[in-house]
Amino acid sequence: MPAPPQPGDRGTDPRRHIPRTDHLLAHPAVAAASAAMSDRVVRDIVHAAQDRARAGRIPPEQVQDEILAALGDRPVTSLRPVLNATGVIIHTNLGRAPLSPAAREALQDAAGYTDVEFDLATGARSRRGAGARAALLAACPEAEDALVVNNGAAALLLATTALAGTGEVVLSRGELIEIGAGFRLPDLITSTGAQLHEVGTTNRTHLADYTDALGPGTGCVLRIHTSNYRIIGFTSEVPLAELAGPCRDAAVPLIADLGSGLLAPEPLLPDEPDVATALRDGADVVIISGDKLLGGPQAGILLGSAEVIARLARHPLARAVRADKLALAALEGTLVGAVPPVLDALRTDPAALQERTVRLAAELAATVVPHEGRVGGGGGAEVPLPGWAISLEPGLAGPLRTGDPAVVTTVQGGRCLLDLRCLPAEEDERVARAVAAARSRTVGEVDRR
Ligand SMILES: *Cc1c(COP(=O)(O)O)cnc(C)c1O
Repeated sequence: MPAPPQPGDRGTDPRRHIPRTDHLLAHPAVAAASAAMSDRVVRDIVHAAQDRARAGRIPPEQVQDEILAALGDRPVTSLRPVLNATGVIIHTNLGRAPLSPAAREALQDAAGYTDVEFDLATGARSRRGAGARAALLAACPEAEDALVVNNGAAALLLATTALAGTGEVVLSRGELIEIGAGFRLPDLITSTGAQLHEVGTTNRTHLADYTDALGPGTGCVLRIHTSNYRIIGFTSEVPLAELAGPCRDAAVPLIADLGSGLLAPEPLLPDEPDVATALRDGADVVIISGDKLLGGPQAGILLGSAEVIARLARHPLARAVRADKLALAALEGTLVGAVPPVLDALRTDPAALQERTVRLAAELAATVVPHEGRVGGGGGAEVPLPGWAISLEPGLAGPLRTGDPAVVTTVQGGRCLLDLRCLPAEEDERVARAVAAARSRTVGEVDRR
């Protein structure tokens, strides 16, 4: 390391030898390495290397190599891919559903110009997202029509605003829920001017509570699936099928916000409601998220009667919450492609998972412990999924998170638990290498102390 230059030493000041910005930018190797990057990012990298040389931290002749190294390492996004070893399938902090190969391919295809709202045969404008709509209706024949918006919360906002306006949304007190990060669905609903008409109590709501509430001011009746908690004990709620008749008689639309995203019943999650059943039970419109158990991109999906969906699609708010072409493409890919990773992880055979876990644990000289997986924020909140985990030294959780690839584990009972449920078997070798690297980094840290 050269001595830091002193302000006085003119003639020998190494800073005089720091290459100039225009020379560096014109150098063929730098130009080639930065061809796909914004000029601003490239200049920032160049200036950072020059600054390091000016501060005497690197010799001037090293500036160009530093720039080339920084350009070479530079990812196009600060979002880093993560290996989810938590056993939580739908992890909102980790981006919820990982996309299927078909959905990823669809994203690529839609990335450029695409006929998302254009009829190539006639050259005229067409209904936006017709392909995603057709795929939804094919996957859920009980629905007459479908509309895709930005996310589940947007779908709920659109449905209640379009159907109730400044009128009343009838909702049970047992369904006034808060979803992640402090967002409360009742606040969302009233944010556009609709009034909440709460009925029943936290634990018990009866049919008469709803029918007593129906009147000239009623805009719609809303059922919200309490996907992230359970009320147990002395409870009662009205089955959707019982509520549908009175709503129809009063000509009041019935909305069912299911959240989870199951289009049809899933035997492993018997308490999780599904769209087909809710529509057969008489809901006029059903709301689900695209990136929960459906296993697709972030989206809010509304399925239901042609008349109600048309009312929603016409409302001005529909334009403010519309889905982008990438989400529409990925959603269609999810629906027409093979089983998405979310359902693969849910349906993991415990014996196969155990065999895999034992094999990898042996390679890592670690033990195997029983570990329950979870569906996660997307539904089946309380349902444990029997499984296994590799039990590692607790100090590994941090180095695994910050390693490359980043591996996210859970720390429980003083151990770092690595659950393979949400990872395809092809990743096992990468996981093993990541653990070995994390171990060597922790050893290094101990040595340095
Ligand atoms: C998750 C969820 C929402 C919100 O959906 P996002 O797609 O996250 O906006 C709304 N209602 C219920 C019942 C949910 O489970």
